[in-house]
Amino acid sequence: MPRVARNREDVLATAGSRYTYSANPLAYPEAIAGGAERIALVGMGCQASAPPVMAARKAGKIARRFTLSIGLLCSKTFDDAIFPELFEARYGLARADIVKMNIKGVFQVWMRDGSYHEVPLKEAHAWTREGCSSCPDFAAEHADISTGGIGAFGDWTLTLVRTEKGEELFNDMEAAGVIETRPIEDDPGAVTLLRKLSRVSRKRWPSTAVPMPGRLPSTTPAP
Ligand SMILES: Cc1cc2nc3c(=O)[nH]c(=O)nc-3n(C[C@H](O)[C@H](O)[C@H](O)COP(=O)(O)OP(=O)(O)OC[C@H]3O[C@@H](n4cnc5c(N)ncnc54)[C@H](O)[C@@H]3O)c2cc1C
Ligand code: SF4
Repeated sequence: MPRVARNREDVLATAGSRYTYSANPLAYPEAIAGGAERIALVGMGCQASAPPVMAARKAGKIARRFTLSIGLLCSKTFDDAIFPELFEARYGLARADIVKMNIKGVFQVWMRDGSYHEVPLKEAHAWTREGCSSCPDFAAEHADISTGGIGAFGDWTLTLVRTEKGEELFNDMEAAGVIETRPIEDDPGAVTLLRKLSRVSRKRWPSTAVPMPGRLPSTTPAP
């Protein structure tokens, strides 16, 4: 559910990724009621796009308060029915006992009893959330910083700095030693996969929308 984090403890309490759709901008009224003037939004591409869309549609007063956005790479999410109808019915994995999930080629599921399970992704496709079928944005392209789990190093976060604001924050965090970094050249396969998955999503551009912005280059430049 959408949450407002106001301090370090709140941020740590909301860490960890839930593979479901969460419309985090809906926490805006709660943030404002608490006196927030500047809000950092965390969410998948569809959420990171909300402030710029609001700005373009003359809801600038609201959009201006979203001063930073951290986007999460995302190729699709699933309807809640996937828990009883797939994980529990076919694999005996009760939602209440799932402690962590990840998607890396397969659905990875960790249970409270310490066991680990893999569910083939192709079995999950039938529960794809309807809106995701027409989502063209894998890499949260409106965000200041986009982050994802793809790549060779499972315990690192793939991070794309997209704007000057994002770069400033990233450099400050690096200088302060609160994040540990390594160059993307360490993992060229991650960039190749990022581009491939971005293209797959971009093909979903709805035919009813304005023509697709031709922003994805046809050749792969050096990262
Ligand atoms: C629905 C979903 C699909 C994803 N799909 C991919 C993918 O296909 N490929 C890929 O490389 N990466 C994907 N990611 C991103 C990846 O799983 C991690 O979220 C990202 O790498 C950041 O991890 P972290 O450990 O650095 O941060 P974490 O400590 O995991 O923090 C993540 C932040 O995101 C917030 N958050 C968690 N779940 C949600 C949610 N459902 N909606 C909005 N905000 C949320 C948390 O509150 C926290 O602030 C997806 C994430 C989500 C939520
Ligand atoms: S696939 Fe697109 S619409 Fe679906 S949750 Fe991810 S970013 Fe949002």
